[in-house]
Amino acid sequence: MSEQITTTSGTTGAEDLTTRYGASMLGVFGTPQRILVRGEGAHVWDAEGNEYLDLLGGIAVNALGHAHPSFVAALTKQVETLGHVSNFFATGPQIELAETLLRLAEAPAGSGVFFTSSGTESNEAAFKIARRTGRPRILALEDAFHGRTMGALALTHKESYREPFEPLPGGVEFVPPGDVQALEAALAPGDVAALFLEPIQGEAGVVPLPDEYLRAARRLTAEHGTLLIVDEVQTGVARTGEWFAHQRLDDLQPDVMTLAKGLGGGFPIGAVIAYGEQVRSLLQPGQHGTTFGGNPLGASVALAVLGTIAEDDLRGSARDRGDHLARRIDELAADDDRITGIRGAGLLRGIALAEPIAPQVVARALEAGFIINAANPHTLRLAPPLIVTDAQIDTFVDALPALLDAATPGNCESDTIGKRS
Ligand SMILES: *Cc1c(COP(=O)(O)O)cnc(C)c1O
Repeated sequence: MSEQITTTSGTTGAEDLTTRYGASMLGVFGTPQRILVRGEGAHVWDAEGNEYLDLLGGIAVNALGHAHPSFVAALTKQVETLGHVSNFFATGPQIELAETLLRLAEAPAGSGVFFTSSGTESNEAAFKIARRTGRPRILALEDAFHGRTMGALALTHKESYREPFEPLPGGVEFVPPGDVQALEAALAPGDVAALFLEPIQGEAGVVPLPDEYLRAARRLTAEHGTLLIVDEVQTGVARTGEWFAHQRLDDLQPDVMTLAKGLGGGFPIGAVIAYGEQVRSLLQPGQHGTTFGGNPLGASVALAVLGTIAEDDLRGSARDRGDHLARRIDELAADDDRITGIRGAGLLRGIALAEPIAPQVVARALEAGFIINAANPHTLRLAPPLIVTDAQIDTFVDALPALLDAATPGNCESDTIGKRS
């Protein structure tokens, strides 16, 4: 008799699934807010049939929304053709994706790409490139987030993420974002391998680095022979209205760029771009590797994502929809002092709140059918699919004052926050 792999005793109602989740998964993510079963465009549905406008896009991942026809077609065609090969072999989609990324990144001749399966893995590879310079020190910014594996964690600033896992890989120091003098002083000894930075600090609350700071970082790292490593895991792939956020500044060419999130539009794929022959050659044959990185499924899907962004001008959409959202939030903020402003670019936005009630607003929003996220207690983060419409954005902005009412401390309704209604 054949063995049955899935349990037959398992029940499938939303509450039962939540209980089974709690009993079977590591507790690192807490209790799931909902069990989701289906998505289409900018909407997802939960196990009870409720519809949500997805204004978070899997945290800047679902660039084309859910079940986009070009995504489905590319993945289906590739999986029917060739699903996976080891990196002893190459495939057409992988090579084409590398060439496409180099072109979009405006990388000079001699540049090269390494594929990964996630953002943290991209930053691990960048970390190893930095080590290969032979220099002992690495700089990252205060409030930086670069991922959860040990190397990326060493570059991540938040103490509560780091402390339980010490000792972390050594040599990393943090400098305050925006402080050119501090950066200059840290670079001065000439022993810094790399400076890691996010053009917009996402986990910090969607805080863009000032243009002047980015320019100074480029100039100073070049002067001191230090690699400038730009983490575009969240900001890349048209999210901010540019292919890559740093491109809003002319001639700000990084030495290394890391990507993931939006690149596969939901398929796990990341990339590291080493700009120029000198940086590319820092990792020699045998010094790094991956099993899944750049497999033909991920590569085909990423090509479809990039192709659709280009064909449908979703960069333009990210800019226009983002401007629309910012305008509408600024209008609200003008006579609602619970909202203090909106940060970010394109469709990566942080709505700043006067009170630390972002988690409560997120819970209220979910009950009202909107998926958003609290980047921190004072910031609502929105990173919707690039296919979102102004009308969809408007439904959220129109609902926001009532969501703030419901989430305000002292309001008796807030007693039920976090519980299922
Ligand atoms: C999400 C994120 C990461 C980590 O990506 P994972 O795919 O979760 O490992 C790294 N850097 C930045 C800027 C991110 O936003």
